[in-house]
Amino acid sequence: YDAKRSGTGVAVYDSTRHADSSTHLGLVEQLRTGIRTGELVLHHQPQVDVATGVPLGVEALVRWAHPVRGLLGPTEFLPLAEVHGLMGLVTDEVLRQAVAQASAWWHGGRRLRMSVNLSASNLLDTDLPHRVSGLLLDHALPPEALVLEVTESVLISDPDRSLAVVARLADLGVTVSIDDFGTGYSSLSYLRELPVGELKLDRSFTSGLLTDTRTEAIVASTITLAHRLGLRVVAEGVEHGDTLAQLAVLGCDDSQGYLHSPPLPADRLERWLDQVRSPALQAAGVPART
Ligand code: C2E
Ligand code: MG
Ligand code: MG
Ligand code: MG
Repeated sequence: YDAKRSGTGVAVYDSTRHADSSTHLGLVEQLRTGIRTGELVLHHQPQVDVATGVPLGVEALVRWAHPVRGLLGPTEFLPLAEVHGLMGLVTDEVLRQAVAQASAWWHGGRRLRMSVNLSASNLLDTDLPHRVSGLLLDHALPPEALVLEVTESVLISDPDRSLAVVARLADLGVTVSIDDFGTGYSSLSYLRELPVGELKLDRSFTSGLLTDTRTEAIVASTITLAHRLGLRVVAEGVEHGDTLAQLAVLGCDDSQGYLHSPPLPADRLERWLDQVRSPALQAAGVPART
């Protein structure tokens, strides 16, 4: 299924076709150059308030505009970047672009939270909080406008060091979010130990909400638990209006998924935002703002 188009318009390659190491090394060197020459681009996917339909934030999702292969999705090149020590460069570039964009929106009157994904090696980088702080100052972005997403698995390799980095990021005033929540193996202890402000319910829970009573019980309880801990809950991968309606019943805070919009380049996201409320929300019967 070579170069098949995914739902996000990103080319999907069969990685086994590029498995020989010379090809991989070539790609690594191309990535190193591409980061420097601006080939990494961000798409932004809106997150909407379930109760009101108002877009409150966006998640920045990186793509690589490869000169020959076209637009590559993150799963095509981030594993390679991680293994070959380029993840720090990728994250610095993503953070720089995301904070600059969030600042332009913020100071232009669009007060959106900007969510950025961090990887495992980023949380071993004890200088990261210092660089994030510098970026926020340089771009005059209030820390509460930035959300940093980590998965439970990123904390495994060196939990003490990762926890210290997460704690210092939270001390800056940025929100730490647990991505793909529910798929890791020790969710509850992380909830106790990490200074988190947000949970992102993994897509597998969202998609099973209406068809599986066990999934529904887990989602309902997770939302209650998160709210008791003072956390916001974002449902990922929301594709259907009836799922959104059920998330509203369960009190989920934010919704993100193809129902609202796929990840879009900044200019197209702005056009989407200008519609204020997505037709999908109206179709789902979410009440209009008065
Ligand atoms: P994620 O952070 O869980 O991001 C959500 C992924 O689900 C995105 O895929 C998004 O396009 C996709 N998605 C959104 N809505 C729907 C939906 O309704 N249905 C379905 N089936 N999928 C939906 P994408 O952009 O390919 O990113 C994949 C993963 O790559 C992300 O998962 C994240 O873990 C990682 N990633 C993306 N950008 C970055 C980045 O800048 N840095 C790091 N470290 N990781 C990134
Ligand atoms: Mg994410
Ligand atoms: Mg996720
Ligand atoms: Mg997920």
